Amino acid sequence: DGIELRKVREFVWEIPQAGEMNAPARVLASDALLEQIADDKTLQQLRNATHLPGITTYAACMPDGHQGYGFPVGGVGATDTTDGCISPGAVGYDINCGVRMIRTDLTYDDIRGHEEELVESLFANVPSGLGGGGIVDGDADTVEAVLERGMEWALEEGYATADDLAHCEDEGRRPDARPEFVSQKAKDRGRNQLGSLGSGNHFLEVQRVTDVFDEGVADSFGLTEDQIVVLIHCGSRGLGHQVCTDYLRAIEKRHGDLLEQLPDKELAAAPAGSELADEYYGAMCAAINFAWVNRQLITHRTRRVFERVFRADADELGMELLYDVAHNIAKREVHEVGIDADGTAVPTEDAVDHEERELYVHRKGATRAFPAGREEVPAAYRDVGQPVIIPGSMGAGSYVLVGGDESLAQTFGSTAHGAGRVMSRTAAKQEYWGETVQDELRDQDHIYVKAQSGATVAEEAPGVYKDVDEVVRVSDALGIGDKVARTFPVCNIKG
Ligand code: 5GP
Ligand code: MN
Ligand code: MN
Repeated sequence: DGIELRKVREFVWEIPQAGEMNAPARVLASDALLEQIADDKTLQQLRNATHLPGITTYAACMPDGHQGYGFPVGGVGATDTTDGCISPGAVGYDINCGVRMIRTDLTYDDIRGHEEELVESLFANVPSGLGGGGIVDGDADTVEAVLERGMEWALEEGYATADDLAHCEDEGRRPDARPEFVSQKAKDRGRNQLGSLGSGNHFLEVQRVTDVFDEGVADSFGLTEDQIVVLIHCGSRGLGHQVCTDYLRAIEKRHGDLLEQLPDKELAAAPAGSELADEYYGAMCAAINFAWVNRQLITHRTRRVFERVFRADADELGMELLYDVAHNIAKREVHEVGIDADGTAVPTEDAVDHEERELYVHRKGATRAFPAGREEVPAAYRDVGQPVIIPGSMGAGSYVLVGGDESLAQTFGSTAHGAGRVMSRTAAKQEYWGETVQDELRDQDHIYVKAQSGATVAEEAPGVYKDVDEVVRVSDALGIGDKVARTFPVCNIKG
């Protein structure tokens, strides 16, 4: 629709600053991916995001980007915490949607012949789908404790080990959580969803490691070829969704002036320092804790299932948490920002100086990818870099990357979060038939899928997603997230 892109260098495209934009925007993509990105509203949404007050350096779109609510999925927007703003739409409805990988000492040979039993047992024991019911019955006090203390609660209650906490972002607890700013309605929605996958795009997948690209880093992550790992993808369920809804409505009402300056109502933002900015941040951090506990409870159940199927202790099976990453989140982080002679934030290549700034880094459908050395990376990985987990689809590979040296300068320490959708759910249901997809996956690729409905399988068919290999190729080439290993599905349960 006439959004002109300027090529900065290979895989880097810019929408130059013009009009009311407060900064330029950048898209990180190959030609093939750019064509798909330009096919929906992603570029308009990215340009709109540059109207947010305090947007620093540029708004960025990762190679898996596609359109979302107001702000693209695959979008990174860093706004100043003193004169900027925070925007719930730039975090997303599913606060702390994310993925975690659990390693095992099993090999593919150990699993062959048990796939059917494993997938049935996982499906029977891990709650999924839209309906209610979680692993833990959350009374009011439980929900409060989960929101306040995250995985520390899970540790006390015997659902987590100390090692699990040590291998989770923020050790599974955001200290900035303020449960008192989470509405009763949100808490009520979360009560019977503690330990549940949810629907559609969320899944639990047993995978085998097919390729190791970096032996050294793979060794630090405990990954070897042929090994079985488990990937869990879900978020904060109805609780997080309600937090997002509540604050979008409240912010629209109270900060109408700012809303009028924005090109899209869906970008509604609270000015930094305002009451609503702080309340949303505290409520969002509480929802983050909820999501970590959600993934932890599913981990706990998964271990029990493996113990029954493989007749050994989870410890003996080596079922340790490799890492847990959020991909819908905003975080206060300090970044070294390039500045020009006037002190305006500019891309590194144009900078005459650098300055430390505290920013709300919004990552929506984007993964933090900090390189070695950053203090936020857990001690176990600080010398190597942060593990980054990028799922592909139920019929394609997924990747483990490591935070790259270029990520801080180019993307506020971020990279992609998946392959990214190319086909809408409606179109997918016309294109695919669930049972056929399921049969083909089993007969051709030995992938065992079980879902709540055939429609879910159709909506999530491998063909609705982009080429994850291409997404990862760009991330690796730019040095923002470097390839470590690739996996392939064995069993998959879908909500
Ligand atoms: P989102 O959080 O945006 O819903 O999804 C993250 C990514 O997960 C998608 O972009 C897609 O690449 C990937 N994905 C979706 N379903 C599956 C699945 O069943 N298995 C795997 N391995 N990846 C999936
Ligand atoms: Mn989600
Ligand atoms: Mn997600």
